[in-house]
Amino acid sequence: MKTFSKVPNPGEKTRIIICPLCGNKIYSNHWKINDSSFVKCSKCSLIYQNPQPIAEDVALRYDNSYFNYEITNENIFLNLILLGLKDVGFIPANIQTGTRKILDIGCATGLFLEFMKKNGWDAYGVEICESAADYGIINRNLNIYKGFLENLSVPHNSFDIIHFSHVIEHINDPLLFLENVYNLLKPGGVVYCVTPNISGFQARLFKQKWRSAIPDHLVLYSVKTLKMLFKNSNFKVIKYKTWGGLCANSGYPVFLKKILDKLAKPLGFGDVVIIKAVKPH
Ligand SMILES: [Zn+2]
Repeated sequence: MKTFSKVPNPGEKTRIIICPLCGNKIYSNHWKINDSSFVKCSKCSLIYQNPQPIAEDVALRYDNSYFNYEITNENIFLNLILLGLKDVGFIPANIQTGTRKILDIGCATGLFLEFMKKNGWDAYGVEICESAADYGIINRNLNIYKGFLENLSVPHNSFDIIHFSHVIEHINDPLLFLENVYNLLKPGGVVYCVTPNISGFQARLFKQKWRSAIPDHLVLYSVKTLKMLFKNSNFKVIKYKTWGGLCANSGYPVFLKKILDKLAKPLGFGDVVIIKAVKPH
């Protein structure tokens, strides 16, 4: 599966930032990918783009080409989301008594939300790509807010579960983003976050040619820095799992992919990580 990636639009503004995880100003150069520089924080080891494009400019990259990518691959993505959730013990069909409320941030065309709705959930989405959101609203009759999470007008303590898959790596200010997520969750509510794992085998092997080392990813998390992000945002990290040993078309023999795929999960060196965290009571 090829990761959606766009060359930054001409005229995008960038700015030098401090570490978005620990606020440290000192970093070393890590990877240069076309015109995008990834640096490593000298204190917490977070890998992030610096200088960094601003959120409004990044949002404009999610035009019709993104919608086409999402709609073409939506069944594959739903399957991956459900597999990831199962890995950390969440089976959407096992709904407890009463209707439960879920928010999917970066819900794209809404196939996962539709699946949740069919399983009895009160389902809401947030999506910055207008054509993807419209598809879910019109064709799936879903409740999707078009825009950024911080502009979503919903009372605090609203959701039992908040899910975001392949979103956090696109966010300029992940601490502010998680503060919003925290406020929207009910006490005892659970957050599920999926993101590429820079401490995985593929990132170590391919380095700046890694499929997730792209200008659209503003921050690249390791298992360690992702856990730190959630802890610093007052969440209790319950569980995490990684998966994916080698991607298809990596140029390596199929038998090696099979072996590495099988080992990635139990040994924790997978290419993608899912983290489950709780907002304490
Ligand atoms: Zn740092």
